[in-house]
Amino acid sequence: MPCPQFANPSPPVWGQAPSAVRPDEAGRPFIRGVRFVATVTFFIAFAQTAFAASWSVQAEPMHLVNGGPVLFRVKAPAKFDSLSGTWLGHQLTFSYNATTKTWFALAGVSIETGAGKYPLALTAERDAKAPLTFTHTFAVARAKYPQIKVQLTVEKKFTEPTPEQQQQAAEGVKIKQDYLNRVTPAREWNGSFKAPADAAISDVFGSQRIFNGKAQSPHQGLDFRVPTGTPVTAMNDGTVLLARPLYFEGNFVVIDHGQGLLTLYLHLSEFKVKEGDVVKRGQEIGLSGGTGRATGPHLHVAVRWQGTYLDPARLVQLPLP
Ligand SMILES: [Zn+2]
Repeated sequence: MPCPQFANPSPPVWGQAPSAVRPDEAGRPFIRGVRFVATVTFFIAFAQTAFAASWSVQAEPMHLVNGGPVLFRVKAPAKFDSLSGTWLGHQLTFSYNATTKTWFALAGVSIETGAGKYPLALTAERDAKAPLTFTHTFAVARAKYPQIKVQLTVEKKFTEPTPEQQQQAAEGVKIKQDYLNRVTPAREWNGSFKAPADAAISDVFGSQRIFNGKAQSPHQGLDFRVPTGTPVTAMNDGTVLLARPLYFEGNFVVIDHGQGLLTLYLHLSEFKVKEGDVVKRGQEIGLSGGTGRATGPHLHVAVRWQGTYLDPARLVQLPLP
């Protein structure tokens, strides 16, 4: 896909020449001068187009939306040691597939991101040579997330906690701040993500919820309707970052898949892994339950990319290398 900034080089060369030569002053030297300028400009434009054509930058899915994950695929014009990028204020570290000669990185668009055009700025580095940079712009559209308000009732300790409960909640918040904002640049995920349970969805990502009459922020995960004791499996390969009880999350497992991508599994009744364990996609990591702030037994799963929650359903649908 050509980059817009190179695909539209400065004024169209051949369209300019006729208006520059007025019939009454079509002297020979002047025409030659016009031809010379036009030819040089043409070669500059041609060189830029040829250069741009040797970069290929693609996104999957093709239509980006707020709250959605995105896989960027880049083909660089030469061999490089590393490729990095910036996207919506986040740093991206690309992995290289030697078979397809493609660099790829998994990223996302926060649910708060407005519709518009956003640049992906790339920097390719190699030994002792100046880095090569390239920018490609992608359009982001607004996704439609349900605005239906759900009336839920949870125990008072979650909506009006005592000072002691507030302290437990604050400890949980601190643990999440300490762990969930870590970014492991190396990729551990391998291939597409898989749903953590084979069950019906009871609440989707992005819906607005009300607890005891108080509006909460949009739902940051996906809920599966499962009874207590249902096996919960890892959505992809990774390392267990957290496996401990927290105040709101209940028994909580977090898997780090690298490239800043985490999956979170809440309200478990039992752990089947411990922190530091290396897990494979589909491996059992716990049993579902209703611990923490839950209206009843269910599995809440969340996908977090560099501090931003993404729609787990969109991630599962995304075909990945
Ligand atoms: Zn949930």
